Amino acid sequence: MREFDVAIVGAGLAGSIAAAMLARAGHAVAVIDAAKTYPDDFRVEKFDGEQMRVLARTGLSDIVLASSTLDRSVWVTRLGFLAEKRLSDQHGFDYGRLVNTLRAAIPPSAAMMHAKVTAIANSPKLQRLTLSTGETIEARLAVLATGLNESLRASLGIGRIELERCQSITFGFDMEPAQAASFPFRALTHYSEHPRFRAAYITLFPIGARMRANFFVYRRLDDPWLRRFRDAPEATLEAVLPSLARFTGPLRIVGPVKMRPVDLCVTEGYVQPGLVLVGDAFGTACPAAGTGARKALVDIERLCNGYVSRWLATPGMDVDKIGAFYADPEKQESDRRSLALARTTRAMAVDPGFFWGLRRWLQLGATRARWTRNLVRAALSGTVGNTPYDAPARPPRQSA
Ligand SMILES: Cc1cc2nc3c(=O)[nH]c(=O)nc-3n(C[C@H](O)[C@H](O)[C@H](O)COP(=O)(O)OP(=O)(O)OC[C@H]3O[C@@H](n4cnc5c(N)ncnc54)[C@H](O)[C@@H]3O)c2cc1C
Repeated sequence: MREFDVAIVGAGLAGSIAAAMLARAGHAVAVIDAAKTYPDDFRVEKFDGEQMRVLARTGLSDIVLASSTLDRSVWVTRLGFLAEKRLSDQHGFDYGRLVNTLRAAIPPSAAMMHAKVTAIANSPKLQRLTLSTGETIEARLAVLATGLNESLRASLGIGRIELERCQSITFGFDMEPAQAASFPFRALTHYSEHPRFRAAYITLFPIGARMRANFFVYRRLDDPWLRRFRDAPEATLEAVLPSLARFTGPLRIVGPVKMRPVDLCVTEGYVQPGLVLVGDAFGTACPAAGTGARKALVDIERLCNGYVSRWLATPGMDVDKIGAFYADPEKQESDRRSLALARTTRAMAVDPGFFWGLRRWLQLGATRARWTRNLVRAALSGTVGNTPYDAPARPPRQSA
């Protein structure tokens, strides 16, 4: 039977980064994932500056920089008004391609196994993993980076608490201007104009020469609106974001429209000997709040830089060691913030009450004030026009 220091189950974003970091640190690592190539699954499609800064601490940000497109500036609209043009540091990418590039960065010293882990027998000393190939391996620590997959967690007695079923639904598609050569901006974040539209916002950002769109709505899965969106995406989009065309001009959706609902879930019963949960396996985030990837990156950075080497330096892998990771202040703050932001983002979009209505207008005012202040500063320092807010990053026109 093969023995390892760490067995990582799942090689998505979280598992691939963990494998690269731990193998680089000299540990004997096994990575197990059924898919040889990560499929074209719909997940996060851009990192912002904050996420890139967490990523930098994993030592792998150069890979993301090389596989992504920087937007450099963004227009922000609120309640139908242009609220701000500002510098931006969002990096757009194809998730599957990024994960496969990260997998390629895992040092050859790590054993990559293409199988499903069907069972784990965990203990304070050694973890025994059974693979779908019939092979069994042992490791001192098992890292569960299995994303949204329920079965392995459930077999370990780790429960899923559903805080909100279908918290939000995300659409992903490419767009191009219907009548112009390019869009007038490099990137655009356009917030919903009214709670009755049950939408959070649409964000347009470049990936290579394409203009990608992520659109977040709050609807039930049986809402007939979803079928209308599938059948006539441009007209349905225009009906719920009526002022969007003022900023984009007439537009066209090209290529396939991906759609994915996400439940807001946390886990229970996860403090177990020899086993840690990271990324979506530990808890999901609302895509509209844009915190899922940061949560996964904080988990991995804290686990690999803060704990694993220390744990392996002494015998055993009891719950005291494992509990220290879950109690890490940065991880706890990241999880807390992610849940809080999921609720605030939703209320800002769909709560019709006076308080949230007032907050929407105050946010427009604050963003406008910031833009005005920056314009005045640029005028005083003689740098007006130095920042290319309006020119497109690349000609984003692309045929389906
Ligand atoms: C539609 C959508 C939009 C999103 N948008 C955003 C956004 O805008 N901003 C943001 O920050 N976050 C966003 N997120 C969240 C973000 O994408 C996730 O938090 C992140 O991708 C989680 O990565 P992961 O490695 O935990 O899971 P995954 O990437 O799903 O990887 C899980 C891996 O585990 C493997 N696996 C599962 N079970 C087993 C098993 N038994 N044996 C072996 N392997 C197994 C799978 O094959 C897979 O490779 C979005 C999520 C979705 C679904």
